[in-house]
Amino acid sequence: MQNLVYLDNAATTPLDESVLEAMLPLMREPRGNPSSLHALGAAAREAVEEARASVARLIEASPREILFTAGGTESDNLAVLGLAAANPEKRHVVISAIEHPAVRGAAEHLEATGYEVTRLGVTADGVVNPAELAEALRPDTALAAVMWANNEVGAIQLVEELAGICREAGVTFHVDAVQGAGRIPIDVSRSLVSTLALSAHKLYGPQGIGALYVREGVKLAPTLFGGGQEQGLRSGTENVPGIVGFGEAARLAREELRERVRHEETLREALISGVTHIPGVRLNGHHENRLSNNVHLSVEGVEAEGLVLFLDALGYAVGSGSACASSTSGHKASPVLLAMGRTEREAFSAVRITVGKDNTKDEVENFLEAFSTAVVRLRELSPLYTS
Ligand code: PLP
Repeated sequence: MQNLVYLDNAATTPLDESVLEAMLPLMREPRGNPSSLHALGAAAREAVEEARASVARLIEASPREILFTAGGTESDNLAVLGLAAANPEKRHVVISAIEHPAVRGAAEHLEATGYEVTRLGVTADGVVNPAELAEALRPDTALAAVMWANNEVGAIQLVEELAGICREAGVTFHVDAVQGAGRIPIDVSRSLVSTLALSAHKLYGPQGIGALYVREGVKLAPTLFGGGQEQGLRSGTENVPGIVGFGEAARLAREELRERVRHEETLREALISGVTHIPGVRLNGHHENRLSNNVHLSVEGVEAEGLVLFLDALGYAVGSGSACASSTSGHKASPVLLAMGRTEREAFSAVRITVGKDNTKDEVENFLEAFSTAVVRLRELSPLYTS
């Protein structure tokens, strides 16, 4: 594993050294429960509240508007199920066709219990048309959800416009910003979004810790019941080391955002121009309207899993389609690519290369050679490929 070049930063990012340093004392030293009255409890509470303030600053929220959860999935579930439960008389939900399974699955769960779900299509570049959202909203719409940036193809949505449409219609609007945060400057104090999901492990923080921003005044019902932590909206003893790690990761993400984006864009452009010179390699999504770290390709004549394993053997970790779901979804074409009008064949030949702040130009140059070798070799082996 030592020499593996990691190009799968949309799946998860490496833990930043200073995040680890911030977390270690909380795991090594005697610890308290933030709900306890004694000094150790008070110290744990203080650490949690400092981290909350840091996560709030990343998106210009007030600390009171941040609830800690166990990750992006829980934040999305809490938003979709909790907003629906808080408006029980409304039985209609709108989501985009390219949502992460955390939103899609929660909406399907509502559908199974009698809700009507409208799924908004996207353009060939993976973008939701605001006019379609406006048309889909109804007096009985409990909530709408559109992600800030897509985890597979990196397409960035017109979030502010969509939020304005929802506000005008009086509909709460949830945004999954798990991939966008730390890459796109987010300022909820100037925005009209109602709730917004974050996850630490996409920002060089620990896995298993996330947050849900809930705008002051937005009605949300809990989905977990117990000790009433996090304003009664997310019961369960807080993951103090995880929260502290998230706080440090958020601080760094805010401070280094511009620098990271500039660095990633340089690598992304080198990758795109390198790979698209190979015949039969197509970039999915818009060239510019995409996350700074994302390159998503369909490679004619090649099966994605074969390419990922070949590259792995050459020392490069990349994602096939969406790494979040690929090990569990079996052989199903990505709904995101199908919604963008790609064929099943194109979807099955899709790989995702996502760079991060620690990748170098040399790594990208060497990767381009390995990629070209792998594609040529796999095509030679394929009985179906004719150039
Ligand atoms: N939303 C998006 C857009 C994601 O990319 C992911 C994870 O890949 C999630 C939600 C789920 O986050 P977590 O892994 O923290 O549960």
